Amino acid sequence: MSSDYSPPATPHGGADSGAVLDGNAAAGDFAGILASDPTTVMVRCGSCGATQAFGQLSAYLGGPGTVLRCRRCEAMVARVARTPRGTWLDLSGSSSWLFLPTPGPA
Ligand SMILES: [Zn+2]
Repeated sequence: MSSDYSPPATPHGGADSGAVLDGNAAAGDFAGILASDPTTVMVRCGSCGATQAFGQLSAYLGGPGTVLRCRRCEAMVARVARTPRGTWLDLSGSSSWLFLPTPGPA
């Protein structure tokens, strides 16, 4: 009776701390994060572990999506693809993203 897509037995209440929530619970966080200037983000490559500024990653435009690759090992660290179904954000090639505090309005 287990499936990757099966809903939790108790959608509301009864959840201990650390319970897995669905994506809706994180939507606000991601919206806030991605609304910030991505060029200030430090991205760690999930393949070689190198940490680079977002703006230092190799960007490949013009394909089915926008792909960002590690400057050191050329592994894909992030990808965004806009399709009729919606916008896909694939961060599977990165191990972490560090959003530096913004200095304030310019
Ligand atoms: Zn790398």
